[in-house]
Amino acid sequence: MGNRNALAIVATHLHFDHVGAARELVNRLNTPFMVHRLDWELRDIFNELATEWGFPKPELPEPTFIDDGSELPLGLKVIHTPGHTPGSISIVGDDFILTGDTLFEGSVGRTDLPGGNMDRLRDSVCKLYRELPDYFIVYPGHGPPTTIGEEKLNNLIIPMEACLGETGNNFYEQPE
Ligand SMILES: [Zn+2]
Ligand SMILES: [Zn+2]
Repeated sequence: MGNRNALAIVATHLHFDHVGAARELVNRLNTPFMVHRLDWELRDIFNELATEWGFPKPELPEPTFIDDGSELPLGLKVIHTPGHTPGSISIVGDDFILTGDTLFEGSVGRTDLPGGNMDRLRDSVCKLYRELPDYFIVYPGHGPPTTIGEEKLNNLIIPMEACLGETGNNFYEQPE
């Protein structure tokens, strides 16, 4: 395998479908493993989900904790975007953002798993809409890329419209 000079393994959150290979990668590439402390505290509960759904339980490397505003290699920056999980983060570059399971093309991450919270997710998505330019490309943890401007208009769950009311209002029902 060619050396791609990986500098860090950064978890957008600790669900097993995002960190199942973390330990192997960290061991092979000899990089730090970066994660928000709030998700680290829930790692046992999240790993139980893997077992429930028939996947191998992830074994996680030792963490380096990151939080809102943390600077990552290559000039990337962390925004804390809780809601899908308490410690979900997004990674911001010059003209793009990696949103993990916070924001998808046309949708947002589910909030019915342990630690999920729809009000917090809405606040997080609204923060991205307010703070990032419309041309920013969104690379979600699942599905195709999109842009901030596109999601402000056309997101089915949290469009910009949902951000304009008073905070604390429930615009959408919690999924069953
Ligand atoms: Zn997830
Ligand atoms: Zn996921």
